[in-house]
Amino acid sequence: MSSFQLGELILTSKPYAYVLSNACRSSRCDFCFKKQKDLKRCSQCSFLFYCDKSCQEKSWDVHKAECKFIKKAKPKEPTASMRLIALILFKIKKLGREFPVEDVYGRKMTFQSLMSHAEDIQKSLKSCQQMMALIGTLIVYIGSTNIPLPSDFVEIFGKMCINTFSICDNEMQSIGSGLYLGASVFDHSCQPDAEVVFDGINLTVRAIKDIPHRNINKIYISYIDQMQLTEDRQNALKEQYYVLCQCQRCLSPHLDELMTKLTDSGRENQVSEFNAQLEHIKQMKKDKVGPSTIYNACLNQLALHEVALADTHLCKVKTLEIAFDICIESNQWADAITLGKQLLKPYRLYYGQYHPTLGIHLFKLGKIQALQNLPSASTTLQEAENVLKVTHGETHHLYQELLKFIYESRIVFPTESLALQ
Ligand SMILES: [Zn+2]
Ligand SMILES: [Zn+2]
Ligand SMILES: [Zn+2]
Repeated sequence: MSSFQLGELILTSKPYAYVLSNACRSSRCDFCFKKQKDLKRCSQCSFLFYCDKSCQEKSWDVHKAECKFIKKAKPKEPTASMRLIALILFKIKKLGREFPVEDVYGRKMTFQSLMSHAEDIQKSLKSCQQMMALIGTLIVYIGSTNIPLPSDFVEIFGKMCINTFSICDNEMQSIGSGLYLGASVFDHSCQPDAEVVFDGINLTVRAIKDIPHRNINKIYISYIDQMQLTEDRQNALKEQYYVLCQCQRCLSPHLDELMTKLTDSGRENQVSEFNAQLEHIKQMKKDKVGPSTIYNACLNQLALHEVALADTHLCKVKTLEIAFDICIESNQWADAITLGKQLLKPYRLYYGQYHPTLGIHLFKLGKIQALQNLPSASTTLQEAENVLKVTHGETHHLYQELLKFIYESRIVFPTESLALQ
């Protein structure tokens, strides 16, 4: 067959190198990223944590090269990006001329074959400054003898910056970062053909539409959050990936109009104040202000948005997202349902019909509706099933969790009541 069908698995990829983010340290295993209580520390550096002996042993082959440096750096802790590049440097040194190869439909992916955009980095003052700062901290961390010459370093640094994926948990929150040789084959589009999803540290890419060919060089994923204005997406792509996107969505940015749309009584000069308030709310979250204070601030804003902003306005959507999360954290189920439903329209518009964010949101919403014994639960969960089957696939543990929930709460789908038999 010369095509990929909707939901078909295009690629699975294991990381070439990866690190857990420091914010997740001691709550997730550094080897498999599983969330666990009672994790065991590495007895040498006491910095990394593992589920058990088995994860620790599997990790040691890679970790042994960095362990002594982490121990030596104490009480300072290496940042995730310092650790990632150090692990890549150690790996290159250890393997010498032996290159691990991932064959992606005939295209041989090696670390050496990755794009580095070294010239672009050297031309950009900001990138050069970032690189020099990293070299400075790396010299202290692993010693100058472990750092290659500048011309080689810029290549490795570039490959890391451009090809690193943020590894996300089931809530689409970043929990680490990793370099995946196979998945680096895909170019970017803001209207992608395929979605990247993680199961632990393993990456999968699935088709989110019928793709009429199997030419891997012409299958696109999105490198960035699609729910942004064209200008913001383009700036993010240029800055981080040196990409000038010319996808259909960038060329005819009609969604921007919806993202900035006002009601008839809304005035343009109100928007900057709304955006300032949103930033203020985000800052309160960062500062770990009490949830009820943040929630009230969100509700105040949403009441003002109601008069001035269309349902699809980005500022309103972002405020809704924060308020929805707080409702879930604080078990305010009725409010969560009201807010959660309002997110469906913008999600469908900006992310499209098959996107992990939409699927996960539907699952959360349907779960709450079911716990509240609302009949709407079955439609929402059926839709979640429909999306997650495509984005995550039937073997993903989130999809399995959804089926288990549907079965245990005796939900019957309205149109396909035989679906679970
Ligand atoms: Zn583990
Ligand atoms: Zn250690
Ligand atoms: Zn684009």
